Amino acid sequence: MQRKEFIKSLLSLTAMTTLGSFKNFTNTLKTQNETMPVLFIGHGSPMNAIEDNEFSKGWKAVAKTLPKPTAILCISAHWETNGTFVTAMKKPKTIHDFGGFPQALFDVQYPAQGSKWLANETKNTITKTVVSLDEAWGFDHGSWSILKHLYPEANIPVVQLSLDYNKDAQYHYDLAKELMALRNKGVLIIGSGNMVHNFSYAQLKGNFNAHFGLDWAIEANESFKKLITQNDFKSLINFKTYSKALQLSAPTPEHYLPLLYAIALRSKNETISYFNDALVGGSFSMTSIKIDKA
Ligand code: ZN
Repeated sequence: MQRKEFIKSLLSLTAMTTLGSFKNFTNTLKTQNETMPVLFIGHGSPMNAIEDNEFSKGWKAVAKTLPKPTAILCISAHWETNGTFVTAMKKPKTIHDFGGFPQALFDVQYPAQGSKWLANETKNTITKTVVSLDEAWGFDHGSWSILKHLYPEANIPVVQLSLDYNKDAQYHYDLAKELMALRNKGVLIIGSGNMVHNFSYAQLKGNFNAHFGLDWAIEANESFKKLITQNDFKSLINFKTYSKALQLSAPTPEHYLPLLYAIALRSKNETISYFNDALVGGSFSMTSIKIDKA
């Protein structure tokens, strides 16, 4: 910021009387030169939320490399809706959307605030469809199981954006592109799913995180990384016809689509880095990505 501009900013700061306008001012200062990175996180088993393991350690480590976000927009595999919604409540509840896990997992609460601001920004940024403000959902485990490690203090407001189950991969990719503007407003966008996710072939043997991948799952994980690195969006959108391995990796689309939300936001000059790159349980990949400036 030039000195003259800075003095001008200070003068306008003294004119600000409400806490809200002061907050907006500091957010602007913090983010005006910064485009937030984007994450795709392979979330895997809900137990990762309460385990200190290699994957949760990977999430903690990546968070330390990020600028502090103004707010977080999470696209989780576990919120599919008829139409498109953003959570807009002040205090989102923690949803325990699973069964058969220890009580300790049901006891977890993620008390981050919602953000009316980000809900409205998201609604207004998306022109492809009508986005409705939601007051009923909250945080499903696709978001809180990872956020608990990324931001354990739960001091960053979080909003979830739903996946419209009526739409195809191309639609989701195009919609995701519209979120680009949010990156310049200090918003950390996180897709949370799994690149390879097929329960029909699972061989969990009582340990979801045992390193083991079936041949087709290993092939799919490698193909996804190659296509992502090469910016081959066409193949990633049409993954079902790319190879048998990619077809098997996403028999249903919900864990794959959050990946498209992340990669759609990559600018030409940005790098991709991979972390938690591992296959577990035969047919699941924990491979995660960070998109950031070179
Ligand atoms: Zn999941």
